[in-house]
Amino acid sequence: MSGRVLIECARCGEMVERTGKHQKYCAECRQEKGREYRREHYECNREKELECKREYRERNREKIIEYQREYYERNREKRLEYAREYYERNREYVNATTLARRAEAQEATRKQATIFGAWSAAEDAWLLTNWGLGVTEQAFALGRTYGSALSRRQYLRKKGLAPA
Ligand SMILES: [Zn+2]
Repeated sequence: MSGRVLIECARCGEMVERTGKHQKYCAECRQEKGREYRREHYECNREKELECKREYRERNREKIIEYQREYYERNREKRLEYAREYYERNREYVNATTLARRAEAQEATRKQATIFGAWSAAEDAWLLTNWGLGVTEQAFALGRTYGSALSRRQYLRKKGLAPA
């Protein structure tokens, strides 16, 4: 008596000798199943991780903005120096791309802008609290144009109310 038991692979239907007690698949299908599982598991974890990061950012929005501001302040000299050097080396290119980017941001924000003219104290306060955001983001959030937000930032800086 050989004791051989044949089972039908639950995946491909091939008849194979059973080598394990709870075996359901042939050798190849077992490997393939393992690969599938790892693939799915990986994707699942990845999504979970992204979701976690998203939630973390939401929960700690204030803290993150504060941290960005501090970081910005701490590295101010270094950053300015670096920016100056970069600018010197790429003057023409920088001017061209800056203008293009500003024009694009202006165009996009103007389409959605709902507030024009004088700035309210509440808007200034919001701008100062959310100083670490990009100008475009700020403009969108406030319903202002890019140009409006940009010049208000410059004004607040000149008044010494905002980080330089
Ligand atoms: Zn199989």
